[in-house]
Amino acid sequence: MPTQNNTFSITTAIPYVNAKPHLGHVLEWFQADAMSRYQREVLGKEVWFGAGTDENSLKNVQAAEKAGKSAQDWLDEYAVIFEDAYKFFDIELTGFRRGSDQKMHWPGVQELWRRCVASDDIYKKTYKGLYCVGCESFYTPEELVDGNCPEHLVPPEVVEEENYFFRLSKYQERILQLIERGELNIVSEQFRNEMLGFIKRGLEDFSVSRSVKRARGVGVPVPDSDDQVMYVWFDALAIYMTAMGWGYDQALFEKFWPADVHVIGKGINRFHSVYWIGMLLSAGLATPKTVFVHGYITSDGQKMSKSLGNVIDPFEVVNKYGLEPIRYYLLKEIPTHSDGDFSHARFSELYTADLANGLGNLCSRVAKLASGSDYTFTPVSADELHSHPSYFEAMNQYELSTAAQVLQADLTKIDQQLNIDKPWKLEGAAQQESLAKAIASIQKVTYLLQPFMPKTAAKMYKHFSQPKIDALQPLFPRLAI
Ligand SMILES: [Zn+2]
Repeated sequence: MPTQNNTFSITTAIPYVNAKPHLGHVLEWFQADAMSRYQREVLGKEVWFGAGTDENSLKNVQAAEKAGKSAQDWLDEYAVIFEDAYKFFDIELTGFRRGSDQKMHWPGVQELWRRCVASDDIYKKTYKGLYCVGCESFYTPEELVDGNCPEHLVPPEVVEEENYFFRLSKYQERILQLIERGELNIVSEQFRNEMLGFIKRGLEDFSVSRSVKRARGVGVPVPDSDDQVMYVWFDALAIYMTAMGWGYDQALFEKFWPADVHVIGKGINRFHSVYWIGMLLSAGLATPKTVFVHGYITSDGQKMSKSLGNVIDPFEVVNKYGLEPIRYYLLKEIPTHSDGDFSHARFSELYTADLANGLGNLCSRVAKLASGSDYTFTPVSADELHSHPSYFEAMNQYELSTAAQVLQADLTKIDQQLNIDKPWKLEGAAQQESLAKAIASIQKVTYLLQPFMPKTAAKMYKHFSQPKIDALQPLFPRLAI
């Protein structure tokens, strides 16, 4: 149930835009959007939901070069592709910021830099290290797997230059305490332990700038320095702030900062749960309350790759099967905090069981029985809608898949009760009572299902909250797979 304050802020990660959005992005967007809608539609909070594009990554420059385009042309094209994708997937953002936005982003990130300088946390040194462009990150030799980046499985480049460094080592104890005391909640446990282990091995200062030459034309200029631009993570993480008004709408920023939740993939946990926290502590800003970490999606049990030909295009599957069934699949079938699989066969099973034969059939049956009667029904009270401990416990602990399973079990129970009561064989008060019970239960489930299938659930909740209930068209037509 609602906590003391009535606002909630959440972000997706800030993807670089070297290609069209993939299924992993869409999983993350659905997860964040489900949590945002839960806070707004179910708990009634005022929600700020932000995202953006990381445009100062070398990966973008490489993609542009490969396509024979200028970096800025590429960025302008792909930022629009991403913004449109949020609309296509019905992700209701309230804030969006591009990393190349010189008016709304650059002054804010430069102000963050100056604050870290004022805390004596940014200094210059010559550095030689192993750099993975894919991760935009340095690795120590011990962190490599057979000499390769553990994320990208390619050898890093050797980079030597004079850079600015951030004094992360100074914040080791404070970050550790934040996590150990639960003031920074990393969901789930395995990812929390991973970060505790990482911090306890000793935090090293990290590079927060690179030469203008190595940045190849992209990047936010370092204040008072001609030859350095900011390291991409310093600038990309700051998008969480500049999307929320930092530097131009202080009232908005103060209303929603810090983020209640950053939703991220498991490959970038340390940037959010450690580096970012250090930067905010240095700048004297409040740190996020929760970092929500999700896993990766395989396709038919294998890592998706072009060479295997098993890449699932999220646009294609949505066009084929419908938006909300795909959203439901990703939220329920993919374990919320570990890796999961997408296969057309499993999708078809789940669609048939949970949606066509489950929710869809139940709504049609009950609506048909009710529509043939003179009965009037009463809407369920707000208290009743909010009394469902197992659902709320799961949602408040960010266990989306568990919450979806709880609601699915509810639908099964309603169905079973109908088969016991057999209202189609009853008459008068007994029939009305049986239908009223089913209708009340459907209202409750569809109300709570809104984070998972926003349009379908809201429509069904509304339909079954009316005093007179009409028959329904099938909600989930048979699939042609
Ligand atoms: Zn890498």
